Amino acid sequence: MPRHVLGVESTAHTFSASVVSSKGEILSNVKSVYAAPAGSGIHPIEASKHHAREATHVIEAAMSESGIRPDQLDAVCYSMGPGLGPCLRVGAVVSRTLAGSLGKPLVPVNHAVGHIELGCLLTGTEDPVVLLVSGGHSMVVVCSLGRWRVIGESLDLTVGQLLDQFGRHSGLASPCGRAVEQAAAKSSNYLPLPYSVKGNDVSFSGLLTAAKTLCDQGASFEDVAFSIQETAFAMLVEVTERALAFTGKKEVMVVGGVAANRRLSQMMDDMAVRHGASAKGVPVQYSGDCGAQIAWTGLLAFRSGVRIPIEESSVRQSWRLDTVDVPWRN
Ligand code: AMP
Ligand code: MG
Repeated sequence: MPRHVLGVESTAHTFSASVVSSKGEILSNVKSVYAAPAGSGIHPIEASKHHAREATHVIEAAMSESGIRPDQLDAVCYSMGPGLGPCLRVGAVVSRTLAGSLGKPLVPVNHAVGHIELGCLLTGTEDPVVLLVSGGHSMVVVCSLGRWRVIGESLDLTVGQLLDQFGRHSGLASPCGRAVEQAAAKSSNYLPLPYSVKGNDVSFSGLLTAAKTLCDQGASFEDVAFSIQETAFAMLVEVTERALAFTGKKEVMVVGGVAANRRLSQMMDDMAVRHGASAKGVPVQYSGDCGAQIAWTGLLAFRSGVRIPIEESSVRQSWRLDTVDVPWRN
């Protein structure tokens, strides 16, 4: 008999719920995304109010679309962190209320591990070098000795923040990655920008300042969008390439919201081919934050015995993925 769990995601702009089965079927994945006003980033309290308003309807829709009755669930899984405190707390309260009233176990899930495990499920990747690129993360990660280990990361902004802050500077509404990609596709005029790789880490803050300055000086948005993408993605591909060469792995996987970017996946493909490796990106509809990443990873954790008593089910805003045991990968 397949098992089924409900997963609830609420780390940042997205409130989402999903039901998955132990066969890896995603039976539903319903989302509601908080939209920040043009020119501003996510306001945590406003986003949490959005989540509180949307929670019931999103969860009801996810349950009814899945065809699974609440009493047929084996567990309720929630994103415990990392993320914005007010947003995380809405998901935690809703999930513990549901688990308590249904009499089901509650399973805490690390959101970043969720991006990776869902990516592995959907791409059929087994033991990849992972580039996790999103609003909250820019990391190169591999699994070793029972944990996802960070081989390189951004020392300041994430690449999602880089693209969002660059777009907002020109009046776009966050998240801006898609609009920046569309603008970049209209140019091939590279304007030199700072390229900053330090060991196996990257730094994007100087790149952001230089890109904004170019716009302020009258450079076309398309040219700067093209140049910021070429520079930032080359930095990320360089550190991923070093991790691939060092570990000798044969698979690269790109996950997180920025994995939707076609230029990044093309550059990653070109690099992987040179190493006789495959490069895969999570399908676009699952690249951004979603309940399915929490449900699937929660199911893996639940099968390995992970549970949390309701009275301990707080949130962890700065919960790094390399502190999380992943016993299902032993
Ligand atoms: P996540 O935090 O995983 O939901 O990812 C959100 C981030 O992905 C935001 O910073 C978006 O701007 C970024 N993003 C979404 N689509 C694209 C795209 N096509 N190209 C680049 N970045 C993107
Ligand atoms: Mg995310």
